[in-house]
Amino acid sequence: MPPAIARLPRSREGYPIPWFVAYLDDGTRDFRIAGQEQHFNARRFGLCWICGQKLGRFMAFVLGPMCAVNRVTAEPPNHRDCAVYAAKVCPFLATPSMCRRDGGTPDGLVAAAGETISRNPGASLVWVTREFKAFRAQLGNEGVLFDVGEPVETSWWAEGRPATRAEVMASIRSGLPILEAACESDDDPAESLRMLDKQYHEALALVPGEGQQSGGEPR
Ligand SMILES: [Zn+2]
Repeated sequence: MPPAIARLPRSREGYPIPWFVAYLDDGTRDFRIAGQEQHFNARRFGLCWICGQKLGRFMAFVLGPMCAVNRVTAEPPNHRDCAVYAAKVCPFLATPSMCRRDGGTPDGLVAAAGETISRNPGASLVWVTREFKAFRAQLGNEGVLFDVGEPVETSWWAEGRPATRAEVMASIRSGLPILEAACESDDDPAESLRMLDKQYHEALALVPGEGQQSGGEPR
């Protein structure tokens, strides 16, 4: 466990509680719910989404296979070690499904920004980059999204170990119809589908080869 994660408070079950997890009105914390304030502070001060400490030159996103295709995520970046730990131990450590708003909806909860895909991704991708861009979501739920930039290193993980090619491919294929359906509601569906096809083939270049495993420890 990275030292920055070891210093986080623990849940009753003994799991470190990620820094982004919101405080609910009764003082409890739910791993699935991120705080809007944390989201803002992560962007403003360049803090790691999982441990809350300052990021360095390299930043790492934990992505599901679909985000590996469209290169967009709702979660701010992490330290590389924090991201690998989360991808290995529990992808939900890095990818809450809800965002807590102060005020607004009656219970203060809204879905994460953009068009999220609510399903178990099967495999997680740690995407290390030197630069990314935050932007406002144009479709789906409002909020800030991240264009994850060009990767300097990628590794796939499943069930606590490096993912196999078969696992990554199954995961990507199962989600592709969802991205294709989203293209149909765009202004120019044909152009969106062409773009998706290009992104899909770029993503395939990042999938480990037959009989190989990706991931492993830092080089
Ligand atoms: Zn961290």
